[in-house]
Amino acid sequence: MRKINPKSFTTATRGTSREINRQIALTLIRTHQPVSRADLSRLMDTNRANITFLINDLLEEGLVREGATGNDAKRGRRPTFLYLNSHQRCAIAVDIRATRTYLMMTDMIGKQLENIVSFPTDLEPEKFIKTLSKLIKQLLEDNEEVSECDGIGLVVPGMTDIKTGKVLHAPTLGWRNVDLRALLREEFEDIPIHIENSGKACALSQIWAARSDMHAHNDLVFVSVSDGVGVGVVINGELIRGKHNTAGEFAHVPLSIDGLPCSCGANGCWEAYISNLATISRYFGKNLSPRQPLSLEAANFTIEDLVKRARTGDGKALAALHLTARYLGLGLASIINAIDPSQIYLGGEITEAWDLIEPQVRDAIKERTLIRDLGATPLRIVPANEYPRLRGAVALVTAPAFAAPKVA
Ligand SMILES: [Zn+2]
Repeated sequence: MRKINPKSFTTATRGTSREINRQIALTLIRTHQPVSRADLSRLMDTNRANITFLINDLLEEGLVREGATGNDAKRGRRPTFLYLNSHQRCAIAVDIRATRTYLMMTDMIGKQLENIVSFPTDLEPEKFIKTLSKLIKQLLEDNEEVSECDGIGLVVPGMTDIKTGKVLHAPTLGWRNVDLRALLREEFEDIPIHIENSGKACALSQIWAARSDMHAHNDLVFVSVSDGVGVGVVINGELIRGKHNTAGEFAHVPLSIDGLPCSCGANGCWEAYISNLATISRYFGKNLSPRQPLSLEAANFTIEDLVKRARTGDGKALAALHLTARYLGLGLASIINAIDPSQIYLGGEITEAWDLIEPQVRDAIKERTLIRDLGATPLRIVPANEYPRLRGAVALVTAPAFAAPKVA
């Protein structure tokens, strides 16, 4: 699916489906609300009768509500404003990581409703689903205003089959062909469940974010550096999936053919040089393999600890970060050479050290990009407090209502 650009679109005319007009109307109400029927008919360049017909449908389905009456002194009329009916409906977002899993509840336009909760990820899928279900039920019970849940969106650090809801391979979790949707379906019979790779979901959340610059970045790459590395690629406003929904797995493109062991079973992947474990491993001066249990010392030490030490004058910690930064930049240069995006978004814990590592990352990008303009590709840091992966999980639930169906 593609997003609708609210600043430049062609209104569906005779012969195109009612569904397209509905999605255009919802997108416009979302970006312009509060909006009157008259505004909407101007924006969609269609007559009032069509708008009335469309809005009546949306009101009946509870997707839109009428709010405060506006002032239109010029014409002496007081139009009733339309809003998305976002409050009584919710989305549950779940960010599954190798160490912890995070949950967020939002309304239909992505406004956070409750505090984020988290729990340690149990690598046994059945046990994991049991804990997760309990917490989701708690969230739904605790919020009395919410009458309906539009869906549960789960993002996974691995390859997923979005049709079947299976996790095909999540190296850092050690999951292969885990039918996550079926397990969750046993607990939530009537709620739609969406499962997606975390890098792809992060990229989705950026194209759906209702920001003023949203039309400017139809070609973007999202790179999330964490326990593993996730990458999502958007070209011409559309997330690139490939035949098996595994397109964009730059994390497992080798930086060195016979290099460090990677969680996927191969050697030398980009992830093996830039993941949090890779950086911590460098700090301890050992090759901590993601395929072996960690020593207690390394297991209790986080990337945040390392960044803290680098800030308080620990030269070894700073050197470990600088080397990660160089490898990060080299890999980003390959992505830029291959995709030529107009923007790269970078998320994950490593971004907390951005002021310490930016020069190394940028130098490596400049060194390996094929023409000078590619070396200047804008990089935007997405800080942890924007919760890019949870936002991605929300987008899985809320975005389809605003999506432009694929039209040739
Ligand atoms: Zn790998």
